Amino acid sequence: MLNIVIFGAPGSGKGTQSEKIIAKYGLNHISTGDVLRAEIANKTELGTIADGYISKGQLVPDELIIDILASVLDRFEDSKGVIFDGFPRTIPQAVALKEMLAKRNTAVSAVVALEVEEEELIQRLLKRGEISGRSDDNLETIQKRLDVYKNQTSPLIDYYKSENLYNGIMGMGTVDEIFDRIATVVDNL
Ligand code: ADP
Repeated sequence: MLNIVIFGAPGSGKGTQSEKIIAKYGLNHISTGDVLRAEIANKTELGTIADGYISKGQLVPDELIIDILASVLDRFEDSKGVIFDGFPRTIPQAVALKEMLAKRNTAVSAVVALEVEEEELIQRLLKRGEISGRSDDNLETIQKRLDVYKNQTSPLIDYYKSENLYNGIMGMGTVDEIFDRIATVVDNL
């Protein structure tokens, strides 16, 4: 299986590039952000809990998101591979992912990390907020999310470097330019 973790700060373009990866390589997609927003829209119990964290720019607790991920993964049994978008976001999540995949006799093939300057991230997220109306795309919550990224998520960079899975991609330029850089990495797996 070709299992790719697409990694990067909020606004780095994970969702946009995931769609292009899926189209080219025929992978299944798990976006934890999309899963949580669907739960919120459907007003489920899980959605209500998640909304409390997301609207404040905080991460949903690890146990909760790990359970969600495991259940989505079970739907993709005969898959060519999966793109993990927005997961893992903490070291415990990365460890859980490794164990979950090992149990299914597979592993992460590569981490594709979109590297974008902070000023550009803020501009992109503000612009997205105007269009999407996402409750977490306002300046105060964006700043909080970037802090959370630095404190809780960026330690994964060293974690995946030590696992020899990390591929840094320059995440600035046009969508197609960035995708070409990603495809070069994926074609060599
Ligand atoms: P972005 O990458 O722009 O921050 P996402 O759509 O991936 O947006 O996630 C939106 C929010 O959903 C996050 O700020 C967080 O609150 C929650 N979330 C998504 N994935 C996770 C995760 N793996 N662990 C904890 N919380 C998550």
